[in-house]
Amino acid sequence: MREFLKTKGFKMTPQRELIFRAFFEHGDHVSVDELYDKVRELDHTIGYSTVWRNLKLICKVGLAEEVNLGDGVTRYDRVTQVPHGHLFCTNCKKLIEFNVDQVVGLLAQVSRDHAFAPDSFKVEIHGLCAECSAKTEQIKNPEQVKS
Ligand SMILES: [Zn+2]
Ligand SMILES: [Zn+2]
Repeated sequence: MREFLKTKGFKMTPQRELIFRAFFEHGDHVSVDELYDKVRELDHTIGYSTVWRNLKLICKVGLAEEVNLGDGVTRYDRVTQVPHGHLFCTNCKKLIEFNVDQVVGLLAQVSRDHAFAPDSFKVEIHGLCAECSAKTEQIKNPEQVKS
């Protein structure tokens, strides 16, 4: 990691190393607030803006990307070799990842049909997760019985 950053023209400081490590250990879809909490557990002297700046740096060097799901929270996702799609529950904010192999084939076909050269794509499905839709059903059903 240190060598990698050096090739990109950035210096690895102990603080930076800690923030990077926290990010890569945390897993995917971390918000700045969540990463900040995690970093503070390890070193309480690190400020919020330092965490934020370093997250931006992780994106800049291509190791993470911003995920905006329209709920006002920017999450950060590690960039992996395998692209994945997101199922986002608009109620409990749960994020489920899924394999997009089949979708990729379809998108490639659509691009070819339009002689379009794609650089990126996003697959996002917004709605309710199994638990939240089960809860909504429970609320809906008594009303249906009454009417
Ligand atoms: Zn993701
Ligand atoms: Zn949910």
